[in-house]
Amino acid sequence: MAKRDYYEVLGVSKNATEEEIKKAYRKIAMANHPDTHPDDKDAEERFKEASEAYEVLSDKTKRQNYDQFGFAGVEGAAGNYSNVYRDFSDIFSGFGGFGDIFDSFFGGGARSSRSSQGGVNAVRGASLQYTVTISFKDAIFGTKADVSYSHDDACDVCHGTGGTGTKTCPTCHGRGQVSRGNGFFQMASTCPTCHGSGMVIENPCSSCHGTGLKKKNEKLSVTIPCGSDDGTKLVLRGKGNAGPNGGPAGDLVILVRVQDDKYFVREGRNVFLQVPISFTQAALGCEIEVPVVEGGKVRVSIPSGIQSGKSLRLKNRGVPAFKGSPDDRGDMYLTVIVETPKHLGLKARGLMKDLAAALGEDSSPSPIPFER
Ligand SMILES: [Zn+2]
Ligand SMILES: [Zn+2]
Repeated sequence: MAKRDYYEVLGVSKNATEEEIKKAYRKIAMANHPDTHPDDKDAEERFKEASEAYEVLSDKTKRQNYDQFGFAGVEGAAGNYSNVYRDFSDIFSGFGGFGDIFDSFFGGGARSSRSSQGGVNAVRGASLQYTVTISFKDAIFGTKADVSYSHDDACDVCHGTGGTGTKTCPTCHGRGQVSRGNGFFQMASTCPTCHGSGMVIENPCSSCHGTGLKKKNEKLSVTIPCGSDDGTKLVLRGKGNAGPNGGPAGDLVILVRVQDDKYFVREGRNVFLQVPISFTQAALGCEIEVPVVEGGKVRVSIPSGIQSGKSLRLKNRGVPAFKGSPDDRGDMYLTVIVETPKHLGLKARGLMKDLAAALGEDSSPSPIPFER
Protein backbone atom coordinates (compact mmCIF):
# COMPACT_ATOMS: atom_id res chain seq x y z
CA MET A 1 0.00 0.00 0.00
CA ALA A 2 1.27 3.48 -0.86
CA LYS A 3 2.39 5.56 2.09
CA ARG A 4 0.01 8.38 2.92
CA ASP A 5 1.16 11.96 3.42
CA TYR A 6 1.77 12.59 7.14
CA TYR A 7 -0.44 15.69 7.21
CA GLU A 8 -3.21 13.73 5.53
CA VAL A 9 -2.80 10.91 8.07
CA LEU A 10 -3.37 13.33 10.94
CA GLY A 11 -5.98 15.32 9.02
CA VAL A 12 -4.23 18.66 9.55
CA SER A 13 -3.08 21.38 7.14
CA LYS A 14 0.54 21.89 6.08
CA ASN A 15 0.82 24.92 8.35
CA ALA A 16 -0.79 23.33 11.40
CA THR A 17 0.60 24.45 14.77
CA GLU A 18 2.37 22.06 17.16
CA GLU A 19 -0.74 22.13 19.33
CA GLU A 20 -3.03 21.22 16.41
CA ILE A 21 -0.77 18.33 15.44
CA LYS A 22 -0.68 17.04 19.00
CA LYS A 23 -4.44 17.33 19.30
CA ALA A 24 -5.08 15.54 16.01
CA TYR A 25 -2.71 12.74 16.93
CA ARG A 26 -4.21 12.32 20.39
CA LYS A 27 -7.65 11.99 18.86
CA ILE A 28 -6.60 9.26 16.40
CA ALA A 29 -4.48 7.43 18.95
CA MET A 30 -7.31 7.34 21.47
CA ALA A 31 -9.91 6.29 18.93
CA ASN A 32 -7.76 3.40 17.74
CA HIS A 33 -5.88 2.40 20.82
CA PRO A 34 -5.29 -1.33 21.04
CA ASP A 35 -7.14 -1.80 24.28
CA THR A 36 -10.61 -1.02 22.99
CA HIS A 37 -9.77 -2.63 19.64
CA PRO A 38 -8.27 -5.99 20.50
CA ASP A 39 -7.42 -8.01 17.40
CA ASP A 40 -8.46 -5.12 15.16
CA LYS A 41 -5.67 -4.97 12.56
CA ASP A 42 -7.12 -1.87 10.89
CA ALA A 43 -7.18 0.11 14.11
CA GLU A 44 -3.64 -1.03 14.88
CA GLU A 45 -2.53 0.11 11.41
CA ARG A 46 -4.19 3.51 11.85
CA PHE A 47 -2.55 3.83 15.23
CA LYS A 48 0.91 2.98 13.89
CA GLU A 49 0.45 5.22 10.88
CA ALA A 50 -0.59 8.16 13.06
CA SER A 51 2.27 7.51 15.49
CA GLU A 52 4.80 7.59 12.69
CA ALA A 53 3.29 10.80 11.29
CA TYR A 54 3.31 12.35 14.73
CA GLU A 55 6.90 11.40 15.36
CA VAL A 56 7.99 13.35 12.31
CA LEU A 57 5.61 16.31 12.48
CA SER A 58 6.14 16.93 16.20
CA ASP A 59 9.89 17.29 15.69
CA LYS A 60 10.89 20.66 14.23
CA THR A 61 13.92 19.41 12.29
CA LYS A 62 12.23 16.27 10.99
CA ARG A 63 9.18 18.25 9.96
CA GLN A 64 11.36 20.71 8.00
CA ASN A 65 13.12 17.83 6.27
CA TYR A 66 9.82 16.18 5.48
CA ASP A 67 8.32 19.41 4.10
CA GLN A 68 11.37 19.87 1.87
CA PHE A 69 12.22 16.33 0.77
CA GLY A 70 9.14 14.22 1.57
CA PHE A 71 9.58 10.71 2.95
CA ALA A 72 13.19 10.66 1.70
CA GLY A 73 14.02 13.50 4.11
CA VAL A 74 12.98 11.51 7.16
CA GLU A 75 14.14 8.05 6.22
CA GLY A 76 14.72 5.90 9.26
CA ALA A 77 12.01 7.65 11.26
CA ALA A 78 9.52 4.96 10.44
CA GLY A 79 9.48 2.12 12.89
CA ASN A 80 11.33 3.96 15.62
CA TYR A 81 8.83 5.35 18.03
CA SER A 82 11.15 6.09 20.90
CA ASN A 83 10.60 9.84 20.66
CA VAL A 84 6.89 9.44 20.41
CA TYR A 85 6.99 7.17 23.33
CA ARG A 86 8.79 9.71 25.49
CA ASP A 87 6.04 12.20 24.72
CA PHE A 88 3.23 9.90 25.73
CA SER A 89 3.19 10.81 29.39
CA ASP A 90 2.82 14.41 28.27
CA ILE A 91 0.25 13.75 25.55
CA PHE A 92 -1.91 11.52 27.64
CA SER A 93 -1.64 13.47 30.86
CA GLY A 94 -5.12 14.07 32.07
CA PHE A 95 -6.31 10.83 30.53
CA GLY A 96 -5.62 8.66 33.53
CA GLY A 97 -5.03 5.04 32.71
CA PHE A 98 -3.93 5.47 29.13
CA GLY A 99 -0.28 5.44 30.11
CA ASP A 100 -0.62 1.83 31.12
CA ILE A 101 -2.27 0.92 27.87
CA PHE A 102 0.54 2.45 25.86
CA ASP A 103 3.12 0.83 28.06
CA SER A 104 1.78 -2.57 27.25
CA PHE A 105 1.37 -1.76 23.57
CA PHE A 106 4.90 -0.48 23.18
CA GLY A 107 6.38 -3.18 25.34
CA GLY A 108 6.87 -0.80 28.24
CA GLY A 109 10.12 0.98 28.90
CA ALA A 110 10.13 4.60 29.94
CA ARG A 111 7.37 4.26 32.48
CA SER A 112 6.52 1.56 34.87
CA SER A 113 3.30 -0.17 34.00
CA ARG A 114 2.46 -0.71 37.63
CA SER A 115 -0.98 0.24 38.58
CA SER A 116 -1.89 2.19 41.66
CA GLN A 117 -4.30 -0.65 42.36
CA GLY A 118 -3.16 -4.08 43.52
CA GLY A 119 0.09 -5.68 44.62
CA VAL A 120 3.74 -5.44 43.67
CA ASN A 121 3.41 -6.70 40.09
CA ALA A 122 -0.07 -5.44 39.40
CA VAL A 123 -0.84 -4.70 35.73
CA ARG A 124 -4.04 -4.15 33.85
CA GLY A 125 -5.68 -7.34 32.59
CA ALA A 126 -6.22 -8.03 28.90
CA SER A 127 -9.43 -7.09 27.13
CA LEU A 128 -11.36 -9.91 25.51
CA GLN A 129 -13.58 -9.97 22.46
CA TYR A 130 -16.73 -12.02 22.10
CA THR A 131 -18.76 -12.23 18.90
CA VAL A 132 -22.55 -12.32 19.09
CA THR A 133 -24.56 -13.11 15.95
CA ILE A 134 -28.13 -11.83 15.91
CA SER A 135 -30.98 -11.69 13.42
CA PHE A 136 -31.68 -8.76 11.12
CA LYS A 137 -34.80 -7.83 13.08
CA ASP A 138 -33.13 -8.11 16.52
CA ALA A 139 -30.42 -5.69 15.41
CA ILE A 140 -33.09 -3.15 14.50
CA PHE A 141 -35.25 -3.41 17.60
CA GLY A 142 -32.67 -4.61 20.14
CA THR A 143 -32.45 -7.88 22.03
CA LYS A 144 -30.69 -9.66 24.85
CA ALA A 145 -27.86 -12.06 24.13
CA ASP A 146 -26.46 -14.74 26.41
CA VAL A 147 -22.70 -14.52 26.56
CA SER A 148 -20.80 -17.40 28.08
CA TYR A 149 -17.03 -17.07 28.26
CA SER A 150 -13.98 -17.88 30.32
CA HIS A 151 -11.69 -15.23 31.76
CA ASP A 152 -9.01 -14.67 34.38
CA ASP A 153 -10.41 -13.76 37.76
CA ALA A 154 -8.69 -12.94 41.06
CA CYS A 155 -7.42 -16.05 42.89
CA ASP A 156 -9.63 -16.60 45.92
CA VAL A 157 -6.81 -18.06 48.03
CA CYS A 158 -4.53 -14.98 47.92
CA HIS A 159 -7.29 -12.53 46.88
CA GLY A 160 -5.40 -11.67 43.72
CA THR A 161 -2.18 -10.54 45.39
CA GLY A 162 -0.22 -13.60 44.25
CA GLY A 163 1.37 -14.20 47.65
CA THR A 164 3.27 -12.41 50.41
CA GLY A 165 6.57 -10.51 50.73
CA THR A 166 8.73 -9.06 47.95
CA LYS A 167 12.28 -9.54 46.67
CA THR A 168 14.39 -8.19 43.78
CA CYS A 169 13.39 -9.64 40.39
CA PRO A 170 15.94 -12.28 39.29
CA THR A 171 15.29 -11.65 35.55
CA CYS A 172 16.07 -7.92 35.39
CA HIS A 173 17.93 -7.59 38.72
CA GLY A 174 15.57 -4.85 39.81
CA ARG A 175 15.81 -2.65 36.70
CA GLY A 176 12.30 -3.43 35.52
CA GLN A 177 13.46 -3.58 31.89
CA VAL A 178 15.17 -5.98 29.59
CA SER A 179 16.87 -4.94 26.31
CA ARG A 180 15.26 -5.96 23.10
CA GLY A 181 17.38 -4.53 20.31
CA ASN A 182 15.79 -5.95 17.19
CA GLY A 183 12.34 -6.07 15.68
CA PHE A 184 9.88 -3.33 15.00
CA PHE A 185 10.29 -1.40 18.24
CA GLN A 186 13.91 -0.69 18.85
CA MET A 187 13.84 -0.16 22.57
CA ALA A 188 14.11 -1.63 25.99
CA SER A 189 11.01 -3.48 27.00
CA THR A 190 9.29 -4.20 30.27
CA CYS A 191 10.66 -7.19 32.14
CA PRO A 192 8.25 -10.07 31.51
CA THR A 193 8.82 -11.51 34.99
CA CYS A 194 8.06 -8.47 37.16
CA HIS A 195 6.13 -6.37 34.59
CA GLY A 196 8.46 -3.43 35.23
CA SER A 197 8.29 -3.18 38.99
CA GLY A 198 11.75 -4.70 39.55
CA MET A 199 10.31 -6.78 42.38
CA VAL A 200 8.75 -10.21 42.58
CA ILE A 201 6.67 -11.93 45.25
CA GLU A 202 8.81 -13.78 47.78
CA ASN A 203 6.28 -16.40 48.85
CA PRO A 204 4.06 -17.12 45.86
CA CYS A 205 0.56 -18.40 46.49
CA SER A 206 0.48 -22.18 46.01
CA SER A 207 -2.95 -22.09 44.39
CA CYS A 208 -2.18 -19.62 41.57
CA HIS A 209 1.65 -19.91 41.57
CA GLY A 210 2.02 -16.20 42.18
CA THR A 211 -0.07 -14.87 39.31
CA GLY A 212 -3.01 -13.95 41.52
CA LEU A 213 -5.30 -15.34 38.83
CA LYS A 214 -7.61 -18.27 38.24
CA LYS A 215 -9.89 -19.15 35.34
CA LYS A 216 -13.55 -18.39 35.76
CA ASN A 217 -16.50 -19.25 33.53
CA GLU A 218 -18.94 -16.42 33.33
CA LYS A 219 -22.44 -16.09 31.94
CA LEU A 220 -23.81 -12.66 31.14
CA SER A 221 -27.03 -11.45 29.63
CA VAL A 222 -25.97 -8.58 27.41
CA THR A 223 -28.41 -5.97 26.16
CA ILE A 224 -27.96 -5.34 22.44
CA PRO A 225 -29.47 -1.87 21.94
CA CYS A 226 -31.91 -1.02 19.16
CA GLY A 227 -30.26 0.36 16.04
CA SER A 228 -27.23 -1.93 16.35
CA ASP A 229 -25.62 -2.87 13.06
CA ASP A 230 -23.18 -5.43 11.75
CA GLY A 231 -19.81 -4.50 13.28
CA THR A 232 -21.21 -2.63 16.29
CA LYS A 233 -18.92 -2.99 19.32
CA LEU A 234 -20.23 -2.84 22.88
CA VAL A 235 -17.63 -2.39 25.60
CA LEU A 236 -18.34 -3.91 29.01
CA ARG A 237 -15.84 -2.21 31.32
CA GLY A 238 -13.95 -4.47 33.67
CA LYS A 239 -15.48 -7.70 32.35
CA GLY A 240 -12.26 -8.85 30.68
CA ASN A 241 -9.31 -10.57 32.33
CA ALA A 242 -8.44 -9.55 35.86
CA GLY A 243 -5.02 -7.88 36.07
CA PRO A 244 -2.18 -10.06 37.42
CA ASN A 245 -1.46 -9.48 41.10
CA GLY A 246 -4.54 -7.43 41.78
CA GLY A 247 -4.33 -5.05 38.81
CA PRO A 248 -7.51 -3.63 37.28
CA ALA A 249 -9.48 -5.84 34.89
CA GLY A 250 -9.58 -5.33 31.13
CA ASP A 251 -12.83 -4.98 29.21
CA LEU A 252 -15.09 -7.39 27.42
CA VAL A 253 -15.79 -6.18 23.89
CA ILE A 254 -18.95 -7.59 22.32
CA LEU A 255 -18.70 -7.59 18.53
CA VAL A 256 -22.18 -7.69 16.98
CA ARG A 257 -22.66 -9.62 13.75
CA VAL A 258 -26.00 -9.33 11.96
CA GLN A 259 -27.45 -12.02 9.70
CA ASP A 260 -28.77 -11.02 6.29
CA ASP A 261 -32.53 -10.99 5.83
CA LYS A 262 -34.17 -12.92 3.00
CA TYR A 263 -36.05 -9.86 1.74
CA PHE A 264 -34.92 -6.68 3.47
CA VAL A 265 -31.65 -4.87 2.91
CA ARG A 266 -30.47 -2.25 5.36
CA GLU A 267 -28.39 0.84 4.79
CA GLY A 268 -27.85 2.85 7.95
CA ARG A 269 -31.29 3.73 9.29
CA ASN A 270 -33.22 2.91 6.10
CA VAL A 271 -34.44 -0.46 4.87
CA PHE A 272 -35.06 -1.44 1.27
CA LEU A 273 -37.46 -3.97 -0.15
CA GLN A 274 -38.06 -5.00 -3.76
CA VAL A 275 -41.65 -5.85 -4.71
CA PRO A 276 -42.64 -7.42 -8.00
CA ILE A 277 -45.88 -6.19 -9.59
CA SER A 278 -47.43 -7.19 -12.85
CA PHE A 279 -47.47 -5.21 -16.03
CA THR A 280 -51.20 -4.49 -15.70
CA GLN A 281 -50.91 -3.54 -12.01
CA ALA A 282 -48.26 -1.01 -12.99
CA ALA A 283 -50.32 0.41 -15.81
CA LEU A 284 -53.63 0.58 -13.91
CA GLY A 285 -52.37 1.22 -10.38
CA CYS A 286 -53.20 -1.12 -7.52
CA GLU A 287 -53.20 -1.75 -3.79
CA ILE A 288 -50.71 -4.31 -2.52
CA GLU A 289 -49.73 -5.69 0.86
CA VAL A 290 -46.03 -5.57 1.74
CA PRO A 291 -44.19 -6.98 4.77
CA VAL A 292 -42.58 -4.54 7.23
CA VAL A 293 -39.50 -5.19 9.41
CA GLU A 294 -41.45 -5.21 12.70
CA GLY A 295 -43.55 -8.08 11.35
CA GLY A 296 -46.96 -8.11 9.71
CA LYS A 297 -47.95 -6.31 6.54
CA VAL A 298 -49.13 -2.88 5.49
CA ARG A 299 -51.26 -1.84 2.50
CA VAL A 300 -49.61 0.39 -0.03
CA SER A 301 -51.20 2.02 -3.07
CA ILE A 302 -49.17 1.88 -6.21
CA PRO A 303 -50.05 4.80 -8.49
CA SER A 304 -51.03 4.04 -12.05
CA GLY A 305 -48.29 4.38 -14.63
CA ILE A 306 -45.44 3.59 -12.21
CA GLN A 307 -42.15 2.69 -13.91
CA SER A 308 -40.07 -0.35 -13.06
CA GLY A 309 -37.28 0.53 -10.59
CA LYS A 310 -39.15 3.44 -9.07
CA SER A 311 -39.02 3.66 -5.25
CA LEU A 312 -41.82 4.59 -2.88
CA ARG A 313 -41.03 5.82 0.63
CA LEU A 314 -42.83 4.49 3.70
CA LYS A 315 -42.03 6.93 6.48
CA ASN A 316 -40.90 5.73 9.92
CA ARG A 317 -40.76 2.05 8.89
CA GLY A 318 -36.95 1.86 9.06
CA VAL A 319 -34.38 1.59 11.86
CA PRO A 320 -34.26 3.55 15.15
CA ALA A 321 -31.05 5.42 16.03
CA PHE A 322 -28.50 3.38 18.02
CA LYS A 323 -29.85 3.36 21.60
CA GLY A 324 -32.47 5.84 20.36
CA SER A 325 -36.24 5.94 20.69
CA PRO A 326 -37.89 2.89 19.09
CA ASP A 327 -40.64 5.19 17.80
CA ASP A 328 -38.30 7.47 15.90
CA ARG A 329 -37.24 5.36 12.95
CA GLY A 330 -35.69 5.81 9.54
CA ASP A 331 -37.70 5.04 6.44
CA MET A 332 -38.48 2.05 4.29
CA TYR A 333 -38.11 2.18 0.53
CA LEU A 334 -40.17 -0.06 -1.73
CA THR A 335 -38.61 -0.58 -5.11
CA VAL A 336 -41.21 -1.63 -7.64
CA ILE A 337 -40.10 -4.18 -10.20
CA VAL A 338 -42.55 -4.48 -13.11
CA GLU A 339 -42.66 -8.01 -14.43
CA THR A 340 -43.33 -8.49 -18.12
CA PRO A 341 -45.61 -11.47 -18.80
CA LYS A 342 -43.55 -14.36 -20.18
CA HIS A 343 -46.10 -16.78 -21.58
CA LEU A 344 -49.10 -15.25 -23.30
CA GLY A 345 -52.02 -17.44 -24.24
CA LEU A 346 -53.83 -16.94 -27.50
CA LYS A 347 -56.44 -14.68 -26.00
CA ALA A 348 -53.96 -12.62 -23.98
CA ARG A 349 -51.78 -12.25 -27.04
CA GLY A 350 -54.69 -10.93 -29.07
CA LEU A 351 -55.64 -8.49 -26.33
CA MET A 352 -52.06 -7.31 -26.10
CA LYS A 353 -51.97 -6.63 -29.84
CA ASP A 354 -55.24 -4.71 -29.57
CA LEU A 355 -53.71 -2.78 -26.68
CA ALA A 356 -50.63 -1.93 -28.73
CA ALA A 357 -52.87 -0.69 -31.52
CA ALA A 358 -54.99 1.35 -29.08
CA LEU A 359 -51.81 2.94 -27.72
CA GLY A 360 -50.78 3.82 -31.25
CA GLU A 361 -47.72 1.60 -31.16
CA ASP A 362 -46.33 0.24 -34.36
CA SER A 363 -44.43 -2.98 -33.92
CA SER A 364 -42.41 -3.02 -37.16
CA PRO A 365 -39.59 -0.37 -36.91
CA SER A 366 -37.04 -0.56 -34.13
CA PRO A 367 -37.69 1.92 -31.33
CA ILE A 368 -35.74 5.16 -31.11
CA PRO A 369 -33.18 4.84 -28.30
CA PHE A 370 -33.40 7.09 -25.26
CA GLU A 371 -31.27 10.19 -25.35
CA ARG A 372 -28.44 10.01 -22.86
ZN1 LIG B 1 -3.37 -17.13 44.62
ZN1 LIG C 1 12.06 -8.02 36.34
